[in-house]
Amino acid sequence: MSSITDFGALQEKIAVLAGAAKYDASCATSGSGGRGGGRFGQCLPAGVCHSWTEDGRCVSLLKVLFSNVCRFDCAYCVNRASADTRRLSFSVEELVELTVQFYRRNYIEGLFLSSGIFADPDIVMEKLIATARALRREAGFAGYIHLKIIPGTGEKLIREAGLWADRLSANIELPTEKSLAALAPQKSGKVIFSAMRDVRDTSAENAEDRKRLRSAPVFAPAGQSTQLIVGASSEDDRRILSLSGALYRRFGMRRVYYSAFIPVGVNGRGLPDPRLPDLPGPPLVREHRLYQADWLLRFYHFSPEEVLDESSPFLDPHLDPKTAWALKHLDFFPIDINRAPYETLLRAPGIGAKTARRIIETRRRRALSFDTLRRMGAVLKRARYFVTCSGARLDHPDDAARIRRLLSDSDGAGLQLPLFDF
Ligand code: SF4
Repeated sequence: MSSITDFGALQEKIAVLAGAAKYDASCATSGSGGRGGGRFGQCLPAGVCHSWTEDGRCVSLLKVLFSNVCRFDCAYCVNRASADTRRLSFSVEELVELTVQFYRRNYIEGLFLSSGIFADPDIVMEKLIATARALRREAGFAGYIHLKIIPGTGEKLIREAGLWADRLSANIELPTEKSLAALAPQKSGKVIFSAMRDVRDTSAENAEDRKRLRSAPVFAPAGQSTQLIVGASSEDDRRILSLSGALYRRFGMRRVYYSAFIPVGVNGRGLPDPRLPDLPGPPLVREHRLYQADWLLRFYHFSPEEVLDESSPFLDPHLDPKTAWALKHLDFFPIDINRAPYETLLRAPGIGAKTARRIIETRRRRALSFDTLRRMGAVLKRARYFVTCSGARLDHPDDAARIRRLLSDSDGAGLQLPLFDF
């Protein structure tokens, strides 16, 4: 592989194309700052972001766009066709060498690669695949690779992408076809769902193939994820959560990422786009509550309809969604720690999934007290209103307004959620 000598030009590309990738939340935060200042030979070069695996391990990824040239004109995006911004593209060779160099210097453990749609979707996707293929085959790169699926990519290329990438993602971006038509007119929910379906079906076929033949290549072992922008369109949280529930159920999604809409100027100079809401800033609390509610769907066996209903379509900004649910269902409580089944324990605020498993395990040998419960990781500040220990109780779950006042504006500690994996 040829060596890249024009470091100045490359450095500029990294700055522009990593900056342009940072709005995609489907891995993690980009531009983590630190001592690197974007210069070579330092600790945190531009484009390196930190992500968390599902087991809580922190890893760093090079998160960049192949190109920020885009034919599409999505209102919320800094790279849209109508934006007045500097346009640059990598070559496959540049990206491969950059990734390998960063990897060898221990800056990164993997690559997150997306792109603007600078040509027909298959041509763009082929570039992303060529990068991943060259990394694996020619450079012997064994690190993590996350590839974005370009909307409209054909099934054959999606199949190939999954042979080189650990994870694939097609961003749904907005919760309804109507909002897509208004804000991302060249995108269609049907096309995006079709890509998700291809990933799901190929994954299932691959699992069958590998049962018969252990040496068969693995297809996207880390599954697929997607991103939803929150606050750019008018849908309520109920609509968003209901879509997330369907994405987990129908497509076996590993993660739905929520990205608070960041108001960006229409032409790169800060002028507002009339299609977008005039928000004072990104709705970060809403994003946070959606992540908590999403956690309830994935690990606490809640359905979207239980978390929000027609009478309350938005998550409470002042209360984590599990506590909000408990306060609406006080007749469900208190539950007894020494008798309640696992599913019931999961419903108690202040008791996380790990703590619930520990409770089940430990009480086979002995009865639990509040002290043991606290040592196991339960947050008694929350749990005290909702649980008893062999009949003993610390407080009474009889006054929703009082409990609400006492638990408002806390950060949902009982859920213990890491916000990102990759
Ligand atoms: S397709 Fe839309 S979201 Fe993606 S880079 Fe182009 S303008 Fe941005």
